[in-house]
Amino acid sequence: MALIVQKFGGTSVANTKRIQNVAKRIAKDFDQGNDMVVILSAMAGVTDNLIGLANQVAEAPDRRELDVLLATGEQTTAALLAMTLKTMKYPATSLLGFQAEVVTDCNYCNARIVDIGTDRIKELLEKRNIVVVAGFQGRDSEGNITTLGRGGSDTSAVAIAAALRANRCEIYTDVDGVYTADPNVCSKARKLKNISCEEMLEMASAGAKVLHIRSVEFALKHNVLVYVRSSFNEEEGTMLVNGDHDMERPVVSGVTYNKNEARITLKKVPDQPGIAAKIFSPIAEAKINVDMIIQNTRAGGQTDLTFTVPKPDFKDALEIGRKVAEEIGAEEVMGDENIAKVSVTGIGMKSHSGVATKMFSTLASENINIMMISTSEIRISCVVEEKKAELAVRSLHTAFGLDEE
Ligand code: ADP
Ligand code: ASP
Ligand code: MG
Repeated sequence: MALIVQKFGGTSVANTKRIQNVAKRIAKDFDQGNDMVVILSAMAGVTDNLIGLANQVAEAPDRRELDVLLATGEQTTAALLAMTLKTMKYPATSLLGFQAEVVTDCNYCNARIVDIGTDRIKELLEKRNIVVVAGFQGRDSEGNITTLGRGGSDTSAVAIAAALRANRCEIYTDVDGVYTADPNVCSKARKLKNISCEEMLEMASAGAKVLHIRSVEFALKHNVLVYVRSSFNEEEGTMLVNGDHDMERPVVSGVTYNKNEARITLKKVPDQPGIAAKIFSPIAEAKINVDMIIQNTRAGGQTDLTFTVPKPDFKDALEIGRKVAEEIGAEEVMGDENIAKVSVTGIGMKSHSGVATKMFSTLASENINIMMISTSEIRISCVVEEKKAELAVRSLHTAFGLDEE
């Protein structure tokens, strides 16, 4: 007998028929004597629709109220699943984020979990209840409803698994596991049996939305056994493992793309100490995460500064950029939303050279222009034109020998 946390994503609970299938899956594991905690996403498309509604009444919806609205998506599926289980004569109780004592900071729409009180869940488990928790949501220390950022119900699941010291956390989604590239973009992508948390972290931060990045951070920090698999079949999935599990692996183990960033350039910025701080402090104060930054020095004591921000923050960041540009005497501010970041990831890069050269020449051979480059110890990312992202992924996948035979 084990304590199992299972998370079902939006496609897996997209309609009541699928919720009934999910209930059957859970019932099977419960019948084997396991304690079950189930975390749910909203039905596929619902969170987007709610954001659309908010945008109909406000140009920049108040973030606190937006979280109250967005949390209803997961409230709906949690209630429907618990109801379905009860109809099947299984004891089930749904809990919203605040009832499950998921405590977060007060950063609405992108809150971080700071604590999880497990008393109520444990009490229900002791009574042999199946506990159904609405994912993606929590409450701050003042009791306001918060949400964890898009894709955040993975993080709810792994964090709750960590707090309960669950035997494992199973993430059920619409693909069979973690692949060498998004299987919906690259038909030759291969499913990985295992992936190290370190590689998964880089892939998630580079845009592989199969796992929310903070869920991987929790898995790594609290040693949670995470298993990603499909809710539509019985295929074996992908296990997240700590450490370098397979020395025979290729240098590059994954290719990822992210279309959710936009680029801002401040042209002819005075090249003086303190200028970067003047530009990035107000952006940080607005809680906007800057990803890549490059600076090109020009002649005559001036530089151009380019950086990327998440697309939803683009307008705010551009406005801040324009204000600062005026203050510091920069000549021009430009924005570009039609970009994508393409990345190759692999632990093998630590000990192999030539990966960057191969990436650049592969992109060049497809006539894809590189606008920005950034690297970590195990990742190289290039910003390219948005419409070239898929082509870039497929050609890099082939070039690094990852294609399925
Ligand atoms: P859920 O609603 O279950 O949370 P998501 O849509 O958030 O599902 O994540 C699953 C999707 O992630 C897949 O449909 C796939 O298109 C995408 N994806 C991106 N990169 C990868 C990858 N390397 N391996 C598997 N899936 C990936
Ligand atoms: N429903 C939320 C979203 O669409 C959270 C999630 O699905 O993980 O982003
Ligand atoms: Mg997801």
